[in-house]
Amino acid sequence: MKSGFVSIIGKPNVGKSTLINRIIGSKISIVSPKSQTTRNSIEGIYNDDDSQIVFIDTPGIHKPFNELGKALDKISYGTIRDCEVCLLMVDAGHSYNDDDAFLCEHIQFDCKLVVVFNKIDTTNIELISIVKKKYEELFPSAIFAEICAKDGFGVEDLVKTIKNNLDEGPRYFDVTQVTDRDLKFRIQEIVREKLLLLLKEEVPHGAMVMCEDIRQEGGKTVVYANIIVEKDGHKGIVIGKGGKMIKKIGTYSRQDIEQLIGKHIILDLNVKVVENWRNSSSFLARSGYKF
Ligand code: GDP
Ligand code: MG
Repeated sequence: MKSGFVSIIGKPNVGKSTLINRIIGSKISIVSPKSQTTRNSIEGIYNDDDSQIVFIDTPGIHKPFNELGKALDKISYGTIRDCEVCLLMVDAGHSYNDDDAFLCEHIQFDCKLVVVFNKIDTTNIELISIVKKKYEELFPSAIFAEICAKDGFGVEDLVKTIKNNLDEGPRYFDVTQVTDRDLKFRIQEIVREKLLLLLKEEVPHGAMVMCEDIRQEGGKTVVYANIIVEKDGHKGIVIGKGGKMIKKIGTYSRQDIEQLIGKHIILDLNVKVVENWRNSSSFLARSGYKF
């Protein structure tokens, strides 16, 4: 029996979540028994007959331009240190730039590194080999993998590679167990995903979602969640004309939450303004961010 923790790091949009979902298979399998905070790691747990791999999806590492950035950086680096294997995910279709350099300079790991070139469907062999050469120079002892997380190409081999680099160990988690806390976390992620999907960049990046409560009321499951935004103007945008946007966000979110929980729910979704919350250490601390 092999088991262990695997962190996935990489810039936003390189396909980390897509890979986790592809490996784990369905949203319901994603539980986060240890997660202390909102934008902290999501753990997807892969199980088969002779292994358990606990995947940790870290927030994208980026330059710490404000308090949120710094908090995320600390979480990310802490996550990597606790792992047996670290997957550094790279978009194979993009050339190496300053952001990549910043990330590579800041990675601190003492575990096996696997550099995963994703989105190979968007590029060609020549271009991949240029990017690959750069990473081979930077991380000579790393393992290299080429995948297309979107259609699954190379993913099975990647899982084998990971298993080969894990030690003998126990099953850390009973996968059927989804705690209340994990559920709230998953719900927040679902709503946040809808904000990203439906709204222009500035608004969702200045927003956070807090699932306050899940209650049984008169035979119905009611989920209470708040969308916290930075400005009054953003509140207006999230609500939309005649409440159209918040209704859309609510409907899409409810459908995914129902799929996750496996039953009908009522989603009570509200929008609140906390000015400049991203730079407010006290607000972030109350929300569960660790500094
Ligand atoms: P994350 O921010 O790193 O978690 O990235 P996501 O998993 O959210 O993916 C970002 C975008 O890249 C999404 O639109 C995905 O559908 C897309 N994507 C992920 N993997 C692939 C891939 O292998 N090929 C292509 N063409 N697109 C991909
Ligand atoms: Mg993601």
